[in-house]
Amino acid sequence: MGPKQILEARLTRPALGMSRWEMDERLRIRFESIGGRLLTKDRVQPELREGLVWAAGRRLEKESQLLGLKAHFEGVDLKGFLEMHIGVGAYVGLTPITSDGSKVNVCGLFKKGPRAKGVNPIVDALRNCGLGALADRLEGAQMDPVSLTGISGFQLGGQRVRDRFCSLGDAERMIPSIHRKWDVNGV
Ligand SMILES: Cc1cc2nc3c(=O)[nH]c(=O)nc-3n(C[C@H](O)[C@H](O)[C@H](O)COP(=O)(O)OP(=O)(O)OC[C@H]3O[C@@H](n4cnc5c(N)ncnc54)[C@H](O)[C@@H]3O)c2cc1C
Repeated sequence: MGPKQILEARLTRPALGMSRWEMDERLRIRFESIGGRLLTKDRVQPELREGLVWAAGRRLEKESQLLGLKAHFEGVDLKGFLEMHIGVGAYVGLTPITSDGSKVNVCGLFKKGPRAKGVNPIVDALRNCGLGALADRLEGAQMDPVSLTGISGFQLGGQRVRDRFCSLGDAERMIPSIHRKWDVNGV
C-alpha cells in the first residue's frame, strides 16, 4: 500500500494466467472446429430476439472518472511472481508475460487525475495516486510503446442491461476491482 509492504505470501494452490490474445485465438479455433461460423470486422445492433446473446463488452459511460492503463516493460525486477500495489483510488498489478521474466505486464485502474505532464501516462498516473516508488522503478525500465493501451468511459458493477436481454461477460457486469478509499498518510 503506497510505500509500505503489507503482505508477502504464497498462493495455497497454483493460479493460471493467460494472455487474452492467446485465449481469444484458442476460443476461435475451438468454436470453428465444432462448426461455428465466425464473422469478423462486422458490427451488429442489439435487438431483442430469440437466440441472440449479447457479449459485446462494457457499456459506454462517458461521465466515468475511471481510467484503465496497461503496458509491457523490460528491465523491471519483480519481487515475486505477482506484485499488487494499492494507491489512492487505484490499484496496479505487475506480472511477467515471458517465461524468463524479461517482459512484465503492468496493468492498473486509476481515477482520472490532472493532465499528464510526463511522457509516460502510466508513470504519471502512479505518481498522482501516491505510488511514487513504483513510478521510479518503471521510469528506470523500458516501456514498449506499442503495448500501451488505455480505456475509459466505463463503470464497474452491473451494466444497464435492457430488460429481458440475454447478456454475458462485461456486457452484463464488470467485476469490481479490489481498490478502496485510502489516504496516503493513513493506514
Ligand atoms: C484495467 C483492466 C484490467 C483488467 N485486468 C484483468 C485481468 O488481469 N484478468 C482478467 O481476467 N480480467 C481483467 N479485466 C477484465 C477483462 O478484461 C474483462 O472482464 C473481459 O475482457 C470481458 O470480456 P468480454 O468478452 O465480456 O468483453 P470484451 O473483452 O470487451 O469483448 C467484447 C467484444 O465485442 C466487440 N463489440 C463491441 N460492440 C460490438 C458490436 N456492436 N458488434 C460486434 N462486436 C462488438 C468488441 O470489439 C470486443 O471485441 C480487466 C479489465 C480492465 C478494465
